[in-house]
Amino acid sequence: MRGRAALAAFDRGGLEPLDATLAQFAERLARENHTLKRSLTDPRLFSGIGNAYSDELLHRARISPLKLTSKLTPDEVARLFHATRDTLTEWTERLRAELVDGFPEKVTAFHDAMAVHGRYKLPCPVCATPVQRIRYRDNETNYCARCQTEGRLLADRALSRLLKSDWPKTIEELEVSFQTYFENHSQLCQVAASCSLGFEIPWPKPL
Ligand SMILES: [Zn+2]
Repeated sequence: MRGRAALAAFDRGGLEPLDATLAQFAERLARENHTLKRSLTDPRLFSGIGNAYSDELLHRARISPLKLTSKLTPDEVARLFHATRDTLTEWTERLRAELVDGFPEKVTAFHDAMAVHGRYKLPCPVCATPVQRIRYRDNETNYCARCQTEGRLLADRALSRLLKSDWPKTIEELEVSFQTYFENHSQLCQVAASCSLGFEIPWPKPL
């Protein structure tokens, strides 16, 4: 019981994705309206999805890390569900296999086999477009603009200009800024090569 009690102390109540049904996964996503990046990495909502795996599964699901959970279609929720399970399963097996061969040379949050996480400027394994990033404090989110955001690239400096100050101190502040930014501005810039607020479309919009 002592071990169980100790375990419970670490249990933040997050859903274990590999034990969950699609309906349970969807219910968790619908509980709070946040960006996917924040909801997926919130240990109160989901267990075991950190910064790295969230980048990887969002890339696999082809959905923006800044998409709000309230705006997801049923198809997108299903894609996220399967991408989450596939990502966690594959990485568990990969890391286990590496351990069988001996201890990994170093334990790091980054891994060569990752598609986008920790791979800023390196080619996306799906489309070869350089991987992008969104920085906040000492953290960063990596994504592929062609695979996940319809070619839209949000430059860090553009966000700084938008905020007219330093970086937000919390992810919550960042989310409010992004939400306003997207809602007020994204429709205007769907076809522009670039826009005054810094959206850039360096590649043709996918058909
Ligand atoms: Zn890509």
